[in-house]
Amino acid sequence: MAITRFAPSPTGYLHIGGLRTALYSYLWAKKTNGEFKLRIEDTDNARNNEDAVRAILEAFEWVGMPSDCEIEYQSKRFDIYKKYIDKLLEEGNAYKCYMSREELDALRAKQESNKETPRYDGTWRPEDGKTLPAIPDSVEPVIRIKAPTTGTIEFTDGVKGAMRFDANQVDDFVIARSNGAPTYNFVVAVDDALMGMTDVLRGDDHLSNTPKQIVVYNALGFGIPKFFHIPMINNPSGKKLSKRDGAMDVMEYKRLGFLPEALLNFLVRLGWSNGDQEIFSMDEMLTLFDPNNINKSASAYNEEKLLWLNAHYIKNVSNERLANDLKFHDCEIHGHDKKEMILDLCKERANTLLELKDAISNILDIPTSYDNKGVKKFIKEDTVDMLNSYCKLIEQNKELHIPVDIEAITKPFIEENGLKFPQLFQPIRISLTGGTNAPSVYDIIAILGVEETLQRIETAISKNFDKGD
Ligand code: GLU
Repeated sequence: MAITRFAPSPTGYLHIGGLRTALYSYLWAKKTNGEFKLRIEDTDNARNNEDAVRAILEAFEWVGMPSDCEIEYQSKRFDIYKKYIDKLLEEGNAYKCYMSREELDALRAKQESNKETPRYDGTWRPEDGKTLPAIPDSVEPVIRIKAPTTGTIEFTDGVKGAMRFDANQVDDFVIARSNGAPTYNFVVAVDDALMGMTDVLRGDDHLSNTPKQIVVYNALGFGIPKFFHIPMINNPSGKKLSKRDGAMDVMEYKRLGFLPEALLNFLVRLGWSNGDQEIFSMDEMLTLFDPNNINKSASAYNEEKLLWLNAHYIKNVSNERLANDLKFHDCEIHGHDKKEMILDLCKERANTLLELKDAISNILDIPTSYDNKGVKKFIKEDTVDMLNSYCKLIEQNKELHIPVDIEAITKPFIEENGLKFPQLFQPIRISLTGGTNAPSVYDIIAILGVEETLQRIETAISKNFDKGD
């Protein structure tokens, strides 16, 4: 049973890299009948923003991955952190350091000029038999943790394998600032331990924080969770993902007409695979996902794949769901008795809900103009006569209302008049939708009904297709 978490810092929106980490954490918890928890890492007041928290929570609601516990906010846990800082001080595992900013800067400069990695030099670290400097009046102390000075800090990462850091890579880092505020690596470790994490999945940009956090776990006598550091998502040319490539707010994907199922399916495959399977329902993800199989190398964002998946889910979710989701995009198919037919037709060609909306409007909205290029190409001298004859034919067949019936009367008409399909179909498409890029004429006529079809064709003729003469 895995207890996992997702712990965003609300310094901006939730981006897809974060959502992927959250998805992996969620899947692993659910697969093992464990728990998935959300924690908002908002200790850094200056950078935190309530709107960002709202946006993150909204994104989680949209994708449907609720937290199994009340959402924890680090800003509300300061008493807890203080308690553990005091405990470390009492037990001699942390100490007050009175080094001034100037002294620290001088130390750093010296180390850098000696080509050494800057690290705290232990001036205020209490040791048996060591005399500490006199406490200065003017300096408020920070609290530093006693990190090991020899040996190694080791752990097995579920993605990266055996990790080993020399103790000298971790100095006695600050766990509480002079104003008492606890620092990042300290609170993450305390929270993960107290929230019962068994498995911590996060981006591999946090790998270098892990030895520090292990120092905290050890100092407080907490068990260490299993870590999985997930490689980044890059753009197709292997560079850091930029906004242009897709590193945008998860909710922007909603605004662009993606279904959450498609986005999650896309993300699960960015960094994990099950043979060459591309389509995963949530149930399949839950059965098959295993963080031990996360790829070791970075993955590449592929927009075409996302569009392809979205098209797949648009085709396969219910029309009721589509109609409901379309409302977000200000598209409502009001009182139209052929709602199912419209959606069945239009969803076959839509990569996004916005494309679906356009396809629906293209049929349902009365054209306000006629595509010039199409008119030039397809509206010839004898087109109007032909359309008038066709109108007569369908007027005599007013009772027909399914595409195959329309086809059954149209095909003989084409043959009898020696027409080629585009000669009839394109002028009809132009009359009904204003352009040539529309689905099957039989479907459009069936959806609009004979009356509306006749009206639109008559209007187009009376306006002479906007030809101006
Ligand atoms: N708050 C960190 C972030 O947003 C994540 C910390 C963690 O996962 O350990 O990058």
